[in-house]
Amino acid sequence: MANRPSSTSSDRDSGDLFAGELPEMSRISVLLPLPLTGAYDYLVPRTLSAEPGDFVLAPLGNRLVVGVVWGPGDPDGVAEKKLKPIDSVLDAPPLPEANRAFIDWLAAYYLAPPGAVLRMAMSVTAALEPPVPRTGYVVESPDVILEKEAEGVRMTAARKRLLSSMIDRLPAQASELAKEAGVSVAVVKAASDAGLLQRVAMVDQATFAEPDPALPGPELNEEQKIAAEALIEMTSAHTLNVALLDGVTGSGKTEVYFEAIAAALEAGRQALVLLPEIALSAQWLRRFEDRFGVVPAEWHSDLTAAQRRRTWRGVAEGKVKCLVGARSALHLPFPDLGLIVVDEEHESAFKQEDGVHYHARDMAVVRGQFAKCPVVLASATPSLESIANVESGRYRRLVLPERHGVAEPPKIQIVDIRKDKPGRQEWLSPSLRTALEKTLAEGEQSLLFLNRRGYAPLTLCRTCGFRLACPNCSSWLVEHRFARRLECHHCGYSTSQMKNCPSCEDTDSFAACGPGVERLAEEVAAFLPQANVEVVTSDTLHSPFQAAAFVDRMTAKEIDIVIGTQILAKGYHFPMLTLVGVVDADLGLNGGDLRASERTYQLLQQVAGRAGRAGRPGKVLLQTSNPDAPVMEALASGDRDAFLEQESAMRQEFGYPPYGRLAAIIVSGPDERAVEDVARDIARQAPRPDGVQVLGPAPAALALLRGRHRRRLLIKADRSVSMQKLLANWLLSIKAPGQTRIAVDIDPYSFL
Ligand SMILES: [Zn+2]
Ligand SMILES: [Zn+2]
Repeated sequence: MANRPSSTSSDRDSGDLFAGELPEMSRISVLLPLPLTGAYDYLVPRTLSAEPGDFVLAPLGNRLVVGVVWGPGDPDGVAEKKLKPIDSVLDAPPLPEANRAFIDWLAAYYLAPPGAVLRMAMSVTAALEPPVPRTGYVVESPDVILEKEAEGVRMTAARKRLLSSMIDRLPAQASELAKEAGVSVAVVKAASDAGLLQRVAMVDQATFAEPDPALPGPELNEEQKIAAEALIEMTSAHTLNVALLDGVTGSGKTEVYFEAIAAALEAGRQALVLLPEIALSAQWLRRFEDRFGVVPAEWHSDLTAAQRRRTWRGVAEGKVKCLVGARSALHLPFPDLGLIVVDEEHESAFKQEDGVHYHARDMAVVRGQFAKCPVVLASATPSLESIANVESGRYRRLVLPERHGVAEPPKIQIVDIRKDKPGRQEWLSPSLRTALEKTLAEGEQSLLFLNRRGYAPLTLCRTCGFRLACPNCSSWLVEHRFARRLECHHCGYSTSQMKNCPSCEDTDSFAACGPGVERLAEEVAAFLPQANVEVVTSDTLHSPFQAAAFVDRMTAKEIDIVIGTQILAKGYHFPMLTLVGVVDADLGLNGGDLRASERTYQLLQQVAGRAGRAGRPGKVLLQTSNPDAPVMEALASGDRDAFLEQESAMRQEFGYPPYGRLAAIIVSGPDERAVEDVARDIARQAPRPDGVQVLGPAPAALALLRGRHRRRLLIKADRSVSMQKLLANWLLSIKAPGQTRIAVDIDPYSFL
């Protein structure tokens, strides 16, 4: 009786018969959002009722932790008298069953502690507490600036910016308003003290403007209509179906999956869209607003704590109908998910590389399975994984062949920089220079693509050859000349520029080696001084507001030549941008990564897609010293499918994903000897059944990262092998002393 998970009235009655004894409590298992081995058993006091999915406060050591009721306890587990009772049940919507099943599945597949996976679903514990009133601010009149100026109130530029951003806006907290306007919180408070803003008490009752599926969408062409109808049909089926929406850049994929979102919304269900770089999706949000009348809820690292709390709660209560987010949005507690869209499904940004290693594109399909909803994977350059799933019949493929509203795709021209040589300490070939000049003269815009932030990737001393390296990683420090700093792009270590060489103490002896975007900007400014040049990287564009401002400057033609990294590769559409120059097309091919060619193809194809829109033909110049590489030939000829076939044949031959299984074991720690010992121990105990190959241990490409030494083993296996079982049994007996850690990466994407 004591083991029964529920406390029905009959339990209570029978309990009363034993007056004088300890009150009978039911036993439950509670998963805590901590990297522990599994759920722990607790008791439920008779005064409480706790159902699976409920958020509860449970004692752990001498503190209370919020956890989730995972199911009935284990009657054969820890003796009941040793168990502690839970403290309370929180007044929050329960974590839906589909989420719990998803957490268990993900944890088992990626060999991660379930509690660490749960933590991703509970990233906002504040959302579980009852709402408390907060101070909000609002402006009362749209003419507030003129009125207050007339009254003689001092109006600084910051105040003007704040007030104009608040006109017609709902009340919000100071931090949120400050962020939107790009001012400090002190400016908001001072403006309120000066009577420019009114204070209001806000009870955090989340309301979300509902997207309206009935609004008329844009006119779709024949192919779009066929694809949209197929997706709408899938959406009404209430079961997992996966479609690969395969269409070249500009073929109108977004408009097509918007119709599937409309169908999910009409059915009263929720829709989730995953984008690889949500902070930069200003244009996507505008298109959504054009179609549905309001912007969707957002989920990304750039939200304030209050926004996160409100959005998490809104999702859990079913008030958020459509949410667009980064990969972490997959873990939100949607009670009635009706559709998942993964846009740019080939993007490696969907792979999480720290904490729990998982791939959000693959997990979106699993999430769809538990939510019984369809999943749409959209891309102009689908991953080989998705194509293999189409070929095996697991996914359906919907093709959009034409560029919507544009006559022809951009012409891609290969520039062999061994013949068409840039000048000394310069990176633009004569042909690219000519094309830039011509585009500028015609009043059109150009994009120079170089996937390297900063001024130069390496700085060395001309006197003694000393290279400036990161003290925590095996990587060089990158000079950022605008910011006058040297930075490590792996750990964020940063130091000011040095005058003297730390090795030979010579003065002003440092020389920059190779180009970064800043150095390229210098070269462009020297030969086209009349052009307006802007550098765009994650250093200069890290919020949706900055991204929106950049889009406005481009659209207003305040920029002639934009120089940027992969941040510019996707999503942006500028009608006057007709020339794209890829400064170093070979950059991604180095490093020996199994996906190097595929990734280079995807990235460059995407960059190329920025050129020429709305009727203006685009031109793309790829500078390479490997003009005969298959990936360059495929880009120039536009024969994507032939390239993919060749890539997939090669992977098939060597048994690499998606035709074989791959996992990495990474041993890391501050003590190199200990790391080496553990890695060798793992290798010694490696199981070697048929169809399994263990490679390594070898120092990782980044043998030192954030002060931790790293060794890697790679496990390659046939598809028939259960990698999880193999690894779990293998690693069970391995001991990692002190601060040495063993991390497992199933289906690794990074080989650093
Ligand atoms: Zn030196
Ligand atoms: Zn570093």
